[in-house]
Amino acid sequence: MPARTGKEFIDRLNSSEREVYIHGEKVTRNLADHPAFRGLVRSYAELYDMQHDDELRATMTYPSPTTGEPVGRSFLQPRTHDELRSRRDMMKTWADHSMGMLGRTGDYLNSSLMAMAAAADWFGQVDPQFARNIVSYYEHVRENDLLLTHTLINPQANRAKATHEQADPFLAAGIVKETDNGIVVRGARMLATLGGIADEIMVFPSTVLRADPKDEPYSYAFAVPCDIPGLRFLCRESYDYGRSHFDHPLGSRFDEIDAVAIFDDVEVPYERCFMIRHPELLTRGRLYSETGALVHMTHQVVVKDLAKTEFMLGLMCKIADAIQIDGFQHVQEKIAQVIIALETLKGLLRAGEADAEVNQWGIMTPAWDPLNVCRNWYPRIYPEFVRSVWQLAASGLFGLPTEKDVFGEAAEDVERYLQAANIGGKERVRLFRLAWDAAVSAFAGRQEAYEFFFFGDPVRMAGALMYSYDRRPYMDRIDAFLHRDDEGS
Ligand SMILES: Cc1cc2nc3c(=O)[nH]c(=O)nc-3n(C[C@H](O)[C@H](O)[C@H](O)COP(=O)(O)OP(=O)(O)OC[C@H]3O[C@@H](n4cnc5c(N)ncnc54)[C@H](O)[C@@H]3O)c2cc1C
Repeated sequence: MPARTGKEFIDRLNSSEREVYIHGEKVTRNLADHPAFRGLVRSYAELYDMQHDDELRATMTYPSPTTGEPVGRSFLQPRTHDELRSRRDMMKTWADHSMGMLGRTGDYLNSSLMAMAAAADWFGQVDPQFARNIVSYYEHVRENDLLLTHTLINPQANRAKATHEQADPFLAAGIVKETDNGIVVRGARMLATLGGIADEIMVFPSTVLRADPKDEPYSYAFAVPCDIPGLRFLCRESYDYGRSHFDHPLGSRFDEIDAVAIFDDVEVPYERCFMIRHPELLTRGRLYSETGALVHMTHQVVVKDLAKTEFMLGLMCKIADAIQIDGFQHVQEKIAQVIIALETLKGLLRAGEADAEVNQWGIMTPAWDPLNVCRNWYPRIYPEFVRSVWQLAASGLFGLPTEKDVFGEAAEDVERYLQAANIGGKERVRLFRLAWDAAVSAFAGRQEAYEFFFFGDPVRMAGALMYSYDRRPYMDRIDAFLHRDDEGS
């Protein structure tokens, strides 16, 4: 099946039988129609439909190398700068649709998978079968346009101890045994955003995995369908409260549920395993950096950040214009801060693409340093945008009736007393409800935490940035300066 439509996405989800726990309910079928997922699933369906829009088809798809049928462009393995940029255009088109509020759009993990498949020999260094497995999995996902989630984190129980030292050896998902057909996995993994509704889950090395033989049971990289027997998802509460798009413009559309993935002796067939054991290869994120997956995922993330920053800029300018506060200096400063962030992101993205080079696996790969700077910086700057929105909108975020009052008996009061300088009450409430959902609601809080953590702990990412950055020339320059007078003396 080539690039799928929204209906095909929904039909597949509704016909799959899985085990998802939410709000005290066990949901096994028709997830697309469940109130906790319905709004989000519709938004994802819209993304798939964009692949079939006459005006967007060329941006969103490319001919499959195996069938010639159109498939999603985020699967394209770029060999040239133009192809790399074409991936960015596709990713931006999807990101704009949710204003950067969706983090697990297919392009995020497709980018990772396409890089891993190109680097098949990395997996093959242990067993050539692993190389074949990652390539055929990539082709399977591409040709069926499957939606992936992933889990890289072990349960939090005791972060002062290694995985194998936890009180329960199968708290974190580990390999219980091997059978003739594959591995049996028992335990939990965090935190699968979209876990309940994705087609497949990639279960890849944890960031805390140690290169210690005792961590061998936790050393694996595999992928399974979300409806595989024994796998269940324990979801957080939904922040889509079933309210209208008017009341909750973001939460009613884009709340990507997060879930704990629990493996109850799941038998993972060997053909879905890409690496087993070998903690020395899977530690410290080696898989992601050495295959090029990390750079390509970051490329997608920066594009999403761009869309989100443009949204925040537009929103803040609309608020300032509505209540005529843009003449105040601190308001100008706050808006300028977002403009500076936006232009900096654009510059770094462009630098990453302009300095892209073909990596050892033959893939045109963005320069790492500019993108790495973005991934370290955005978690720190995004919360400032959120704070700026509520500083600009102030009580306007709370003197905010809901749709039923806006269009009900109180409509006249709304129109009169909630008017802004240049729009009537109804339109002002519509705008400020969007600001509320971007800066105050449970959805907004989750977005802020998501931006801070989803790509890893910023504290440890900063350490990784420092260690990976070539600092030697600057240290040498200091030495040279300290000894500038030595030659003459
Ligand atoms: C909304 C949301 C969605 C997410 N979605 C996904 C997803 O889809 N897939 C996925 O795999 N992951 C996902 N994550 C998980 C994300 O990758 C982690 O939150 C992140 O890597 C931090 O790990 P942790 O949450 O286990 O925090 P912990 O590692 O438990 O850290 C807790 C605190 O202790 C500190 N700390 C712990 N250990 C150390 C250390 N060794 N050195 C210094 N400080 C330390 C941290 O700085 C932090 O302040 C998501 C997270 C969020 C918040």
